[in-house]
Amino acid sequence: MGDSILCTGGRIFTGERYCEALLVEEGRVVAAGTEAEVRRQSPTGAEHRPLGGRLVLPGLIDAHLHLADVTRFREGLGLGGVRSLATMGETVRQWAAGHPTGSIVGRGWDPERSPDRAWPTYRDLDRAVRDRPLFVLHVSGHAGVANSAALARAGIDRRTPDPPGGRLGRAPDGTPDGRVFESAVREFVGRPDDLDLPEPTAFRRTMHWAASFGLTSFGAMSVAPEEATVLGDLAARGELPGRVRAYLHGGRWEEYFRAAPGRSAPDDRFAVIGVKEYTDGAFGPRTAWLSAPYADDPGNSGVPAAADDRLRDLLEAISRRGLAPALHAIGDRAVEYSAGMIGRYFRGSGPPARIEHAALTPPEVLPALARVGPVLVVQPGFVWSDHWLVHRLGPGRARWAYAFRTLARQGLRLAGSSDAPYDPVDPWRGIRAAVHRTDPEGRSANPAPEEQLSAEEAVQLYTVHGARALAEPGLGRLEPGAAADLVVTGVPTLEAAVALGRGSVRETWVAGRSVARAAADAQTV
Ligand SMILES: [Zn+2]
Repeated sequence: MGDSILCTGGRIFTGERYCEALLVEEGRVVAAGTEAEVRRQSPTGAEHRPLGGRLVLPGLIDAHLHLADVTRFREGLGLGGVRSLATMGETVRQWAAGHPTGSIVGRGWDPERSPDRAWPTYRDLDRAVRDRPLFVLHVSGHAGVANSAALARAGIDRRTPDPPGGRLGRAPDGTPDGRVFESAVREFVGRPDDLDLPEPTAFRRTMHWAASFGLTSFGAMSVAPEEATVLGDLAARGELPGRVRAYLHGGRWEEYFRAAPGRSAPDDRFAVIGVKEYTDGAFGPRTAWLSAPYADDPGNSGVPAAADDRLRDLLEAISRRGLAPALHAIGDRAVEYSAGMIGRYFRGSGPPARIEHAALTPPEVLPALARVGPVLVVQPGFVWSDHWLVHRLGPGRARWAYAFRTLARQGLRLAGSSDAPYDPVDPWRGIRAAVHRTDPEGRSANPAPEEQLSAEEAVQLYTVHGARALAEPGLGRLEPGAAADLVVTGVPTLEAAVALGRGSVRETWVAGRSVARAAADAQTV
């Protein structure tokens, strides 16, 4: 590929409008317009790429995913296909036989996918693996189940109290039964001494694979200092196939700067721009913080996860560093609380403050959100994945879950994301869910047609608006001056691309260079 590339005869969605030709020079878009306009600016000797009427899009941006966990997930024990405790045991046993040493973490388990919705106890897990620690992480990441070896290694027995911000499941006599919730999960996964950080080459594999969906930029969340170092080193060596903007782990962010004060220097491919912190849990384990109790668990309104003074200190400290907060808030009470805390204590003038998920936003919380105006980083795919939500919230409240059109109408800025590995990486799934609301089996967390987005609006969540969330106005659009990160599809229209999803992606470019072609492996998370 030469330094100048002239693309003609296409249907190019720039993120803002349609045009037919594009001129790319040294990794940037130089011109976008009619063929005559763009040809006039094209130097002699430019490489000519006739598009043959095919659709071109800006490279897609996933503003919130967990890169290391996606990588562990792809290369470790996946339990996303488990539909019963029996198949869980069989899957774990087989994996353990092929990986005979070390502790085991299974990811992607979703009890809502099995008919009896049963949770195992340590006894069930011991039947699969007894001689070494096994931990099965709930798909939400906010709960899990440990076998007896994992409980023993964590030093948990009947005298162990519930940790602050967390809970241990217990038998009637008080003995821990293996189930753990919220902060207690940290005893089993993501501990600094047990990080099992993927190899740099594994991160590269994940990003090349993600590029086969058309993804070119990533908001990497809850990044551990070690992970940021690996990604930064890859970027410095020119080996990062996409762009990463990292939000450090709220409990460990200062370690990163202590270890290497110069590391924060931003790079085209990698920069640390914020810190992620939790203010509540998730709907699945009923720990999302609600203003009124769960419809299927009266007396429980979820769990606030942040202490006021600690969150205040964090917001003030990161303001001084020029970093942005990314506050996880799923329940309506947590969303309102997060907006209030950002409004009171965040003073940064760099990247924008974000609220992650903002899943439940009834009319009462909209004024607080509109006043503070954080970027809301939403996961349209959850409209499909959380199809059981009406049981948790009741039909009246579920109407205000994932209410994207309502939020946009308030002038709030929304960005699209997957939250992978807690939902599939595939951005087309989220785009389809934003457009159709109801999944192919007719299920939805909130089917309200008033909340549907057009195909263009849905793609904008993952392009121009995603770029805003990452404070990168030169990404997510194919206008002059922007990065030539783009997706060449094999179809003529956006509607066809949305319908076909990954199957429509022929080639993905980052900075004018191809990073994935359609022949790439067809595996999905
Ligand atoms: Zn997340």
